[in-house]
Amino acid sequence: MSQNRFLRQQGFINGQWVDADSGETLSVTNPATGEVLGTVPDMGATETRRAIEAAQKAMKPWAARTAGDRAKILRRWFELMMENQDELARLLTLEQGKSLTEAKGEIAYGAAYLEWFAEEGKRAYGEVIPTNDNGKRIVTLRQPVGVVGAITPWNFPSSMITRKIGPALAAGCAVVLKPAAQTPYSAYALAVLAEEAGLPAGLFNVLTGKASAIGGEMTSNEIVRKISFTGSTEVGRTLMAQSASSIKKMSLELGGNAPFIVFDDADIDAAVAGATISKFRNSGQTCVCTNRFYVQAGVYDAFVEKLCAAAQALKIGNGLEDGVQMGPLIDEKAVEKVEQHLSDALSKGARVLTGGNRHALGQTFFEATVVADVTQEMQMCREETFGPLAGVVKFETEEEAIALANDTIFGLAGYFYSRDISRIWRVAEAMETGMVGINTGILSTEVAPFGGIKQSGLGREGSRHGLEDFMEIKYLCMGI
Ligand code: ADP
Repeated sequence: MSQNRFLRQQGFINGQWVDADSGETLSVTNPATGEVLGTVPDMGATETRRAIEAAQKAMKPWAARTAGDRAKILRRWFELMMENQDELARLLTLEQGKSLTEAKGEIAYGAAYLEWFAEEGKRAYGEVIPTNDNGKRIVTLRQPVGVVGAITPWNFPSSMITRKIGPALAAGCAVVLKPAAQTPYSAYALAVLAEEAGLPAGLFNVLTGKASAIGGEMTSNEIVRKISFTGSTEVGRTLMAQSASSIKKMSLELGGNAPFIVFDDADIDAAVAGATISKFRNSGQTCVCTNRFYVQAGVYDAFVEKLCAAAQALKIGNGLEDGVQMGPLIDEKAVEKVEQHLSDALSKGARVLTGGNRHALGQTFFEATVVADVTQEMQMCREETFGPLAGVVKFETEEEAIALANDTIFGLAGYFYSRDISRIWRVAEAMETGMVGINTGILSTEVAPFGGIKQSGLGREGSRHGLEDFMEIKYLCMGI
C-alpha cells in the first residue's frame, strides 16, 4: 500500500502537510478485509480555525483573478485526475470497498465537475436591468459568496468533494473541507493534485478528526459564509441549526427515499436493468439508490422474478478483484441497519425471495436481497436502508402509485418506467422529488442540477445552477 503516492497521512492546511496539534491520529480500515490502511490526524476546532483564516487570506487574490485564470488551474487539476485515474480508483476501492470499475467511474465523474466548473466560471454573468427611472441605471454583478465549509460523506469519497470545490473555486471562493472519517485518503489525494496543478496555498484545506468539533467551528465561525454538506438529514438539520446564529448560506444534499415505479405498460427487461443498477450499485449506498419498488399488479410477478435473477447474477467480492460488481458495506453499523429493516419487514409479512443474509465472505459483505409482499408501513419504505435490500410493493392504479411514492418526508430522486407519453408527463409532474429518472435508473451527471426538495435538502450541485449556489448577486443602482 505504501507504494500508492496518494496515501497521505497528514492534514493539508494553508498548503502545508501537517499533523494534529495533539499528535493524535485515527486509523482507516479497508472494509473488504478489515486491514488497517494507515492513520490520519485527529484534528479539532483549533486546526479548523487556522484553516479558515488561511482560506480567508488566500481568497482575496484568488477572487481578483480572471475566471479564465482560475479555469486554467481547475482544468489542469481535472487532467491530473484523469492521468492518475487508475491509482486514485485503487485507493478509493481500498478505503471504500466499491468495485474498481465503479471507482474508476467515480474518478472520471468527479474530475468532470472540475472541468465543467472551470468553464462555467467564465459564464458568471451579471445583468443590465431595464430601469424604472431615467435618472438611474440598474446593474447586477455576481460575486463569490466567501469562505466555504464543506463536509462530505464516505459513499462517494472523491466526487462529492469535486462537485463542491469545483464550483466554489471557480466562483472565486476558498474551501475548508472535512471528508468522512471512513474515506479520508481520496480527499487528501485531491489535495496532492491541487498542489501539482498549481492551486495557491490556502484555497483548498483538508482536515480530518472529530466531526462535531470541526463542524462546530465551521458553522460558528463568522468568516465562513457558506456550508455545503452532503450526508444524512439528521446531521444536515444539526448543521443548519448551528449555522443559524451567523446566518450562513446552506447547500444541503441529504438523505433520500427513492421510489421506483414500474407500470403495466413498461418495458420490463429495461425496468429490471434500471432497477438492478439503481438498487445495487455501490452496494445500495447512494443517496439516489432506489429504496422502494412499486410494481403494478399486471407485471408484478414477471418483474420480481427477473429482478431476483439479476440480483443472483451479481458477483460479490473484494472490489479489487476482476469482475466483482458489488463490494462490502462500509461498516458494521451499515450491515446492522439492513438487518434491522429486513427483520422488521419479515415480522410484518414480507417474504425473502433471494439473499437475506450476511455473505459467506464475512466482514461487512451482504447478499443482494429481494423481498416481496412489502407494504408501506414497513421501516424499509419509511427510511433509507442504504444497503442491497430491494423491497417490492404491489399496486393497482396510477393514483395509488403516486400517493405511495410521495408519502415520505424525503424528495431527492424518483424513478419510473412507462411507455405512455401522457402518463410520463403526468407522473413526472406529480412526483415530489428534485430529480426524476424516466425509463432510466441512472441520472447523475455534472451537466444536470442534482438536488432534493422537502427534507432531502437545499440547493443544486452540477450544471450552471451549481455555480450560482456559490455566488451572491450584488445590485448596483447608478444615478447618472
Ligand atoms: P452517513 O450516515 O452517510 O455517514 P453522516 O451525515 O453521518 O452520514 O456523515 C456525513 C458527514 O458528516 C461525514 O463527514 C461525517 O463525519 C459528518 N458529520 C457527522 N456528524 C457531524 C456533526 N455533528 N458536525 C459536522 N459534521 C458531522
